[in-house]
Amino acid sequence: MPDLHIDADGHLASDLRCAGCTYNLRGRPVEGECPECGQPVSTAITYAIASGRFGVVSSIAPPAAD
Ligand SMILES: [Zn+2]
Repeated sequence: MPDLHIDADGHLASDLRCAGCTYNLRGRPVEGECPECGQPVSTAITYAIASGRFGVVSSIAPPAAD
């Protein structure tokens, strides 16, 4: 089972279908919404984990900014 990857900028780095319309949300910010139907990206992530599509969310921490 693959991990769901999120890049350092907080964008999806794995193919993930929208829970509402199946649009591929790859490259969208995880805090954002589907550009096609407005469903939150976080909802698609929740569905993907719950359905066993992905194992865990694997994020790459952004560099410390100070
Ligand atoms: Zn959608």
